Amino acid sequence: MSKETLEFQAETKRLLDLVVNSIYTNKEIFLRELISNASDAIDKLHFESLTNQDILEGNSDYEIFVIPDSESKTITISDNGIGMTREEVISNIGTIAKSGTKAFLEQLKEKDGSNNGEELIGQFGVGFYSAFIVADTVTLVTRKAGQTSAFKWESDGTGEFTIEECEKESRGTTITLHLKKEFTEGEDNFTNTYDIERLIKKYSDYIRYPIKMNFEVKDKDDKDKTTIEVRTVNSMKPLWTRNKSEIKPEEYNDFFKHQFHEWEEPLEVYHTKAEGTIEYTALLCIPKKASMDLYYSNYEPGLQLYARHVFVMDKCKDFLPDYLRFIKGLVDSPDLPLNISRELLQQSREVRKIGKALEKNILKQLNKMLQNDRDKYEKFWAEYGKSFKIGIYNDAFTGKTAEDLKDLLIFQTSKEGKFATLSEYASRMKADQDKIYYASAKDVATIEKLPQMELLRDRGIEVVYLLDPVDEFTLEALHEYDGKHFQSISREDFKLEDEESKAEQKKVEDLTKDNETVLKDVKEALKDKVTDVKLTSQLKSGAVCLVTGAQGPSLNMEKTFEAMNNPFFKASKILEINPNHPIFEKLKNVHGTDGFADFCDLLYCQALLIEGILPDNHVELANKIANLMTK
Ligand code: ADP
Ligand code: MG
Repeated sequence: MSKETLEFQAETKRLLDLVVNSIYTNKEIFLRELISNASDAIDKLHFESLTNQDILEGNSDYEIFVIPDSESKTITISDNGIGMTREEVISNIGTIAKSGTKAFLEQLKEKDGSNNGEELIGQFGVGFYSAFIVADTVTLVTRKAGQTSAFKWESDGTGEFTIEECEKESRGTTITLHLKKEFTEGEDNFTNTYDIERLIKKYSDYIRYPIKMNFEVKDKDDKDKTTIEVRTVNSMKPLWTRNKSEIKPEEYNDFFKHQFHEWEEPLEVYHTKAEGTIEYTALLCIPKKASMDLYYSNYEPGLQLYARHVFVMDKCKDFLPDYLRFIKGLVDSPDLPLNISRELLQQSREVRKIGKALEKNILKQLNKMLQNDRDKYEKFWAEYGKSFKIGIYNDAFTGKTAEDLKDLLIFQTSKEGKFATLSEYASRMKADQDKIYYASAKDVATIEKLPQMELLRDRGIEVVYLLDPVDEFTLEALHEYDGKHFQSISREDFKLEDEESKAEQKKVEDLTKDNETVLKDVKEALKDKVTDVKLTSQLKSGAVCLVTGAQGPSLNMEKTFEAMNNPFFKASKILEINPNHPIFEKLKNVHGTDGFADFCDLLYCQALLIEGILPDNHVELANKIANLMTK
């Protein structure tokens, strides 16, 4: 096939534009990006070779070579990893698939301005494209392991690239950067062997494969002669095998960014070594931001698995429970066999044991964060709280997850809208209060305007705010906390328990008896829209409210089900009327007249609107209001 010129995908072009036209604080990141790609490529080859020895073509001496050359003003990074086919070159290098890069672009969009791009790129690096920070032309020659055709890709980073077939004897990828003039001299001279060596040591020391360079050494006998010596520059000592106290936070951060394609430093890093019945080292992190697909089925959780520092498997799901799916990291254990199938791994006692210990430790650390650094914990919660709540709900049957996580839950409450644990809420409960009250809606403002809230506010009773659709399901799965049941303020059985309230309730009971016919007729007028119509003592200045039965879906659950296209779970709706409101007198007056049905409908629609539900007959409602206003 002859040489072809193709265009980059639009998004890629934008990114390249940014890379080429920006000034960076951190120009050297290109090197670690390309080395980390080389290392990934060797990982992939090694992984395939476990099931297909032939792919190695008889050479399993993995290596990465870095060759700065001041004469040709280039720096070349080559690996003998998996390599790429023509199609792979086009799709991997010409489009943006990488989640980190995508996230980067989104962040840019959010910030609404391209100026911030420089700063962001400098901080995070954007994979392969960072080559264009220092190069005006990049040439990539690659041959996929096990195949004969090789391809040459070339681009100046301005929207187009060429690709053509070529010769390449060894498998793998060689990337040559034709350096911009400013990077071939002076302070940032990337053709200088010793500077490059220093950079490799700084950024890529832990890379598991040897990164080799050529060094000129003076001949022992003849001082004027030099010979070339190949040396491995990196220590290859995996970060996690080093002593915790000797590892700098930046080293952990860099490691996670590159090992797990994160583009921000992690929120938390846990490095644990265990010796005893089972030996392992784990290096785990909580990424600062939840992956965008964390709650979707295509998200693949799991930890990397190493046995005696040798990579065995990516995304091993058997260590951690699903509610910790956001944890990234690796486990290295000498007690695990080197080639173990996923099926056998699942049954492995060692894996289960390590997993249990990791889970316990993570929860312990999170608990510490909750106690000692509430700000950080709230950040954590904003990203991953949902995962815990879903975890409790999904495990409602055994209740085991609820037991483990109940003290890690936090909710905003009516106490200044701040977050509180259930235990903090419980400690602030009134002497005669035996339930944990909660209200659910899409936001704080809606909850605070619920007519039921007025009385609670008056009595100084704290209310837990449920703002996430999953919250109510979670509390239902929990049943109770420390012997205290959860009570929705929007359910029929909500009653305050103090003396004053009890007296009010008694009064309402009597009133209900006296007005039995009116209430019955209201219910009849509303037909199947409501399951019941009642008087209530729980409202102060509000005229009406809508509650649901003590059991079954709540109004918010109904909304959630509807959003999931599951309209079958309906909440039973009960209209509650405040007998102390003048509207009740009015209701009694219109009872038996022509306007009664309309009056009832208006009452019901009001209650719906308070809940943020648009009545089905909203046009009719508007007309009724207009009529009323002109009366
Ligand atoms: P990432 O490494 O996060 O996927 P990059 O922009 O660094 O993103 O690389 C994009 C893709 O190009 C890689 O996922 C890989 O498929 C391919 N690639 C890059 N460098 C190499 C290489 N040296 N060998 C094989 N494939 C590579
Ligand atoms: Mg990369």
